[in-house]
Amino acid sequence: MTSIPPNDDLVAIDRRHMLHPFTNLKEFSEGAGILPRMLETGQGISVLLSNGRQYIDAFAGLYCVNVGYGRREIAEAIAAQAHKLAYYHAYAGHSNEPAVRLAERVIAMAPLGMRTIYYGLSGSDANETQAKIVWYYNNVLGRQKKKIIISRQRGYHGATVLAGSLTGLPVFHQAFDLPLGPVRHISTPHWWREAEPGESEESFSERCAAELESLILELGPDSVAAFIGEPVLGTGGIIPPPRGYWAAIQQVLRRYDVLLIADEVVCGFGRLGTNFGSHLYDIQPDLITVAKGLTSAYLPLSGAIVGEKVWQVLCQGADEFGPFGHGYTYSAHPVCAAAGLANLDIIEREGIVTHAARVGAIFQQRLRDRFHDHPIVGEVRGVGLLAAIEFSPRPASRARFAPELKVGARIAAACLEEGLIARAMPHGDILGYAPPLVLTETQVDEIVDLTERAVTRVLDQLQREGALGERSVAAG
Ligand code: PLP
Repeated sequence: MTSIPPNDDLVAIDRRHMLHPFTNLKEFSEGAGILPRMLETGQGISVLLSNGRQYIDAFAGLYCVNVGYGRREIAEAIAAQAHKLAYYHAYAGHSNEPAVRLAERVIAMAPLGMRTIYYGLSGSDANETQAKIVWYYNNVLGRQKKKIIISRQRGYHGATVLAGSLTGLPVFHQAFDLPLGPVRHISTPHWWREAEPGESEESFSERCAAELESLILELGPDSVAAFIGEPVLGTGGIIPPPRGYWAAIQQVLRRYDVLLIADEVVCGFGRLGTNFGSHLYDIQPDLITVAKGLTSAYLPLSGAIVGEKVWQVLCQGADEFGPFGHGYTYSAHPVCAAAGLANLDIIEREGIVTHAARVGAIFQQRLRDRFHDHPIVGEVRGVGLLAAIEFSPRPASRARFAPELKVGARIAAACLEEGLIARAMPHGDILGYAPPLVLTETQVDEIVDLTERAVTRVLDQLQREGALGERSVAAG
């Protein structure tokens, strides 16, 4: 029997043998920079680290654990299915009951017009599938040129080659030779930062839609196949759409017969207080990408949901191309699907979507009440249980902090010291929140209080360092 190494050994092995995502590899492997944070257990909205400290996880891992940690019934459903049938593939019509039942339930929860789901294991692979579906669709229709997918700067759609290319964050491209493929990006719809003086949200949305239309006309409508967007832009900074945005964008897409992929990996399954973000913003997508909340991440599972219009064309393709030539070994994995079913049982039985709407409204209000006129807060934004605070040395002028001050990262670190996990978003000085949807009103207050203590501490440090004068403002 192998013995479990004591924690220090575990840390050393980790530093030696694990290549971590989004981590400074040199610092980490040499033992400098961040400490490995070994997670031990989770319960409700909290996680326990191996240092013995408990933290409120106000980011639900990575916007994942919608029903909270420690749900026995999901663990039991996983075990039961693993005993019964641990695996079979879904090629050539093979199937299993949990995957079929889950498909029916997801389609019933989704916006109208959805027909079928292709299962994967991650948001990235589901978006790869969406791109292939879009290309296949246009090939079946004989529109071989219509292949470009338009995305948005600061949009996040994954880290694989095509999904990473659709992502509009430079840090995911740099030194990876991305973006690749027929991909273009339009501007981020961030009204607070990007609007002209005096421009209303509605006018700004019209301007974003006009930019999309100009790009389609420049590239040629016969070359533009699809537009992909998150209902609320997530990893790029948690940016809800300005008023009228999705209506204006959809008008343009319809005019030029461009498909709409709603990337609901974050917004799906209750995060915004509705089943899907598309419900909240009256988005009528042709394709929907889901992951994370589908199983609350108890096991990996994603889906490329295909609407009726696209489905009909894919079926037509069989005459010319035979079987749909796309497949993953783990597609429709029965154990992951069983986790998904148990997760949806909890969401429905406990009314978690309605709860998220109610507590989300309180969360948004409390954050705004506490921070709206704070000396280094530029904007408090969000919807449902997705929120962000963007910091600025001169809020009135929307100035950015000099990047070397690392204000966002320092505030997230100070939160951690207070016992709160909130995320320093990778683009700008932005603190993000996406707590488990089972959050209570009391826990909302705790999160807001802990955040205030952390922000005050960093503000004091900045003042002591004399870093709030000219030096604090980013050049340009
Ligand atoms: N799409 C969105 C909107 C996401 O937020 C993410 C991950 O955060 C992805 C896709 C990629 O998902 P994964 O990390 O599971 O590949």
